[in-house]
Amino acid sequence: MKLYNLKNKNEKVSFSKAVKLGLGKKQGLFFPSKLPIIPKKKIKSLLKKNFINRSQKILSLFIGSEIKKKKIDSSVKSAFSFIKPKLINLKNNISCCELFHGPTLAFKDYGARFMAQILSHLNKKNKSITILTATSGDTGAAVAHAFYKMKNIRVIILYPKGKISKIQKKLFCTLGKNIITIAIDGSFDECQKLVKKSFNDKEIKKKTQLNSANSINISRLFAQICYFFEIFSLTSKINKKKIVISIPCGNFGNLTAGLLAKSMGLPIHKFILATNSNDTVPRFMKTGIWNPYKTISTISNAMDISRPNNWPRVIEIFNRKKWNIKKLGYGSVSENKTKKNIKNLYEKFNYISEPHASVAYTLLKKQIKKEEYGIFLGTAHPVKFKETVEKTLKIKLEIPKSISNFFNLKELSYSIKPNFHKLKKIILNQ
Ligand SMILES: *Cc1c(COP(=O)(O)O)cnc(C)c1O
Repeated sequence: MKLYNLKNKNEKVSFSKAVKLGLGKKQGLFFPSKLPIIPKKKIKSLLKKNFINRSQKILSLFIGSEIKKKKIDSSVKSAFSFIKPKLINLKNNISCCELFHGPTLAFKDYGARFMAQILSHLNKKNKSITILTATSGDTGAAVAHAFYKMKNIRVIILYPKGKISKIQKKLFCTLGKNIITIAIDGSFDECQKLVKKSFNDKEIKKKTQLNSANSINISRLFAQICYFFEIFSLTSKINKKKIVISIPCGNFGNLTAGLLAKSMGLPIHKFILATNSNDTVPRFMKTGIWNPYKTISTISNAMDISRPNNWPRVIEIFNRKKWNIKKLGYGSVSENKTKKNIKNLYEKFNYISEPHASVAYTLLKKQIKKEEYGIFLGTAHPVKFKETVEKTLKIKLEIPKSISNFFNLKELSYSIKPNFHKLKKIILNQ
């Protein structure tokens, strides 16, 4: 499989190279040269397979022969075992698809775990790789767990001190071994700046093999295609209407993966892109003008992004497939509506949700038509947004058994000022 750089279509690389590089020249995103298409009949039989077998098939179609089929199969198995999506039917035409049954309780486990498998496989010479990434919460936990105890891979995660939740901190700052966590006395933006600076530092480049493992890595996106097929398979067992999927969007990786699934022939009728008040894309859909505002803090904080990285990929899919972008549903949801619908889901359906899913639910409820069946994505476990959910619903949430152990473990983070030289010393192991 070849991929090209969206900023310079002459830069073509293999899948392996794209995974290792993350971004192309001029920070351009990689995009597949060929979009595999599965004939209708084959889609039917594919949908009958179980999640793991079907995902192995889908990922081989994208990756091709440059990685042995056996290796792709074992990577999928290691990455996806125990994290199957769950469909929760709420009323006759709406379900929530829960994607948060992985080790760190957010959908980011799918992409991070598959990427970890592929990177460790590509590191054939067993050189030591350093993964350096900044997180505002979910990504850090998913990446840390995905690479935990992997040979020759060291992970360094920066996060803004005091600005991530206790659960998030416990989930990845207590692991130790090959996972190094650093609390930066500053904002998430300052963490990201430090990461960028490290990638541009000649000495670091020379002495370490650096990779960012962030959400623009193509291997993470490919992995996410798989659960759209699973959603379709689960839904078609209970309904025969046209399927509409509402996605809570931040960097638009999830939407990109969904569109790639559709481009392969999966008959999803429509996608709705749902944002919080950081509404660059909904405003663009309405006016055709790209005008990001300053990022606002909201209760759905994983979507507090006003310059979504993956948007150029969304546009590329529409261009390549000659689809009309006007067919996308879209909208932004206020804080009040988000809370109101967390309550509504609880009172009407006895369903405990969280702010991100509620944003998607709010738009789905508003835009769904009679002839359609709607699914909104549950991207994180409600307990990850414990305070907001408890305050909104006036209930106490139980910590799931799978993560309660982490609460007894000691936090092992370094704590530094946003100072590049201090960080550099840690990266160079000095
Ligand atoms: C990352 C994240 C999102 C946004 O997903 P994108 O693929 O970046 O659009 C939504 N909800 C939760 C809980 C997340 O962690």
